[in-house]
Amino acid sequence: MRRIVLPVLASVFFMSTIVSAADKQIPILIVDGQSTIYHYWQMVTPILKQELEDTGLFQVTVATAPLNDGDFSTYKPEFSKYKAVVWNLDAPDWPDNLKTEVDNYVKNGGGLIIVHAANNAFPDWRAFNLMTGVGGWRKRTDAAGPMWYYKDGKLISDPTPGNAGQHGARLPFLVTARAPQHPIMKGLPPTWLHASDELYAALRGPGENMTVLATAYSDPKNHGTGHDEPILIAINYGKGRVFHTPMGHDGLALACVGFVTTFQRGTEWAATGKVTQKVPSTFPSANTVSYRVDLALMDPLFAQGLTVNSSAPKK
Ligand code: ZN
Repeated sequence: MRRIVLPVLASVFFMSTIVSAADKQIPILIVDGQSTIYHYWQMVTPILKQELEDTGLFQVTVATAPLNDGDFSTYKPEFSKYKAVVWNLDAPDWPDNLKTEVDNYVKNGGGLIIVHAANNAFPDWRAFNLMTGVGGWRKRTDAAGPMWYYKDGKLISDPTPGNAGQHGARLPFLVTARAPQHPIMKGLPPTWLHASDELYAALRGPGENMTVLATAYSDPKNHGTGHDEPILIAINYGKGRVFHTPMGHDGLALACVGFVTTFQRGTEWAATGKVTQKVPSTFPSANTVSYRVDLALMDPLFAQGLTVNSSAPKK
């Protein structure tokens, strides 16, 4: 009898170990479903999902929204079941009931993570601009708020009128940490080289309760502003925490170990207020780009060798 019972007990123990590990995972929702022709959300979501799952910390669900003129009556993401929502959606507007749900979710303590073109979304939704701190494009102007950048070691706001959002050709650029004691930034080097990406500049917004975690110099030689632009941002909105990374245009940018690490840490912080993850030994240095080929290859353009500067800069 004993020889039969023991393996059964062992497998029951094994099962319960798996169940309790899954129980402890942090539930995260990725919202996607729409973008402009400049961004391919169908490619971005699997990369973001993989990066979160690689940590072993998160259980990730995807809620794909209909197009703007689609039927939203059956789109019910149940935000409150998740500790944080990753926003990989750039839409001009959303139904009022859903906007109110998102607003209340973050106000009541839900986490929000804004990746790259997600900050282009909803130019006229005031609460979204408050949650993201800054945004660009979709006819945003100074009506959304001033520009924000670092000058002489300090964050300043610049109310000069104009459009919101510009970037140059995709090139590697240096990221400079500005809040090294913030949980997301602790242990990261003071500067590191980010893999080729669009460097978003001249973003505008209310910038309330905003901590600029890192900046990057937007070089006038590459359609830049000449300013140190916010490139990693933390925002408090009600009881909620928002992590905003304007980086991540394509597979290569999303595969940069600097992007991966700050996205994984930023998501944990937005969800829990803490960061338990270690900085990987492959983290880029001030003069060496480091990226994960397996993630970059999830972008079909990268896989075909069509990655850097394959399109004209977008103003
Ligand atoms: Zn882009």
